[in-house]
Amino acid sequence: MENCHVLLAVFPSQGQLNPSLQFAKRLVKMGVKVTFSTSSSAINRMSNRSEIQGLDLAPYSDGFDGQFQGVSVNDFWASVKTKASAALADLIAAKNQEGKPFTRVIFATAMAWAGVVARRFQLRFTLLWIQPAAVFDIYYHYFTDYGDLFRNCSGDQGVEVPGLPVLTVRDFPSFMLSKTTTDDLDWALQSLRDQIEEIKNEENPEILVNSFDALEFDALRAIKKVRMVGIGPLIPSAYLDGEDPSDTAVVCDLREKSSDYVEWLDSQPKSSVVYLAFGSYSDFPTTMLEEIAKGLLEIKKPFLWVLRELNTGEKPEEKLGCKEELEKQGKIVCWCGQVEVQQHPSVGCFFTHCRWNSILECLSSGVPILACPVWNDQLSNAKLVQDVWKSGVRVGANEEGVFTADEFKRCIECVMGGGEEGEELRKNAKKWKDLAKAATKEDGSSYLNLKAYIDEMLCSP
Ligand code: UDP
Repeated sequence: MENCHVLLAVFPSQGQLNPSLQFAKRLVKMGVKVTFSTSSSAINRMSNRSEIQGLDLAPYSDGFDGQFQGVSVNDFWASVKTKASAALADLIAAKNQEGKPFTRVIFATAMAWAGVVARRFQLRFTLLWIQPAAVFDIYYHYFTDYGDLFRNCSGDQGVEVPGLPVLTVRDFPSFMLSKTTTDDLDWALQSLRDQIEEIKNEENPEILVNSFDALEFDALRAIKKVRMVGIGPLIPSAYLDGEDPSDTAVVCDLREKSSDYVEWLDSQPKSSVVYLAFGSYSDFPTTMLEEIAKGLLEIKKPFLWVLRELNTGEKPEEKLGCKEELEKQGKIVCWCGQVEVQQHPSVGCFFTHCRWNSILECLSSGVPILACPVWNDQLSNAKLVQDVWKSGVRVGANEEGVFTADEFKRCIECVMGGGEEGEELRKNAKKWKDLAKAATKEDGSSYLNLKAYIDEMLCSP
């Protein structure tokens, strides 16, 4: 174990940093030396980074250093790719010169270029996949043997591929429907294709997945050429195995939390609050926010709603006609500790944009889900929530992705109401919570999978 030193390379977005830091903490706890590399602007915002003892930090410049106004995702991604590749190569070379080389590179989703750098130094690498195994399967099938099947699918026609439920177009990750050609792939599709290529070129590839066996048994085993190992949920220990009650916080909030929402939650009846949040960067158009606001007022339930400031500094709630009325009924905040909120006894359901951390954190909290996917893997995640895990409902929207206040209300009544369907959803939500906890305990599948990975892959001579 002594010479076992991992370089963990992470894209500087909230959704990558949160689970990657939890992963790093687990490796450190299991005796592995970890150097965590992400952008300097993200590292500077890590509030309590000193709490992760044994973790070395290796910042790289993302090229903008905190000045993101007006920068497109495409430009940001391209800049990180160039700058991080060079920085990782320098770091690996420096460690080699010191005579204390890294033994493996682990890179999180969207960092396929780290695999290219690792290969240049003859270092083995592992992908840490921060989406469901099922979504990896979809991309793998799409970029290998089943591309035409997906491309030729339309309307309600179903696609059947190994390890997955029958999927229709509305369940495909949105990037797959991108109109770009193969010569001009947009950044997301290109990054995903690169990732699959890297994995295919690797001998006996193994992927660590932020998921767990009981949740995705078949999907984790769907691709014969790739060994996928569930090691999640990667959320703080206090909310899972309870081994470390002090481990309650994600270490890296890229935004400042609002202050008084926990006291407000404490004052609400059990399972009464609708919690609404759309992750760290997706924005809903004002028309959609208006429908949600109208639905909330009609349903008359307390709510906690995260509405982030826009890049321009504007507050989305200021554009809502009924802001004052809303604030009498519930609470609008600009950022909160999401896992803490989901696990609060007064929360009764979670209205989400369906990105993976939000979903997995919610499955671990036992709260039913109102799925409102817009793009990316959100569409597939919503399908899994509704039809496979049966712990939530998908809000029905028209072709432009717009839904009405009535539909919003119908879904809340369904997941929180006394009917049979709601009871079944809540029972399933509770089941996933128990299984998530069990997976991360010392005799659980995720714990044992990670231990085996460390013993057999990371630290074997
Ligand atoms: N999150 C949070 N507070 C908020 C909203 C989100 O701590 O008010 C966290 C959430 O717990 C999750 C991450 O931000 O870990 C968002 O990741 P996700 O994959 O859900 O969405 P993305 O930001 O990638 O769209």
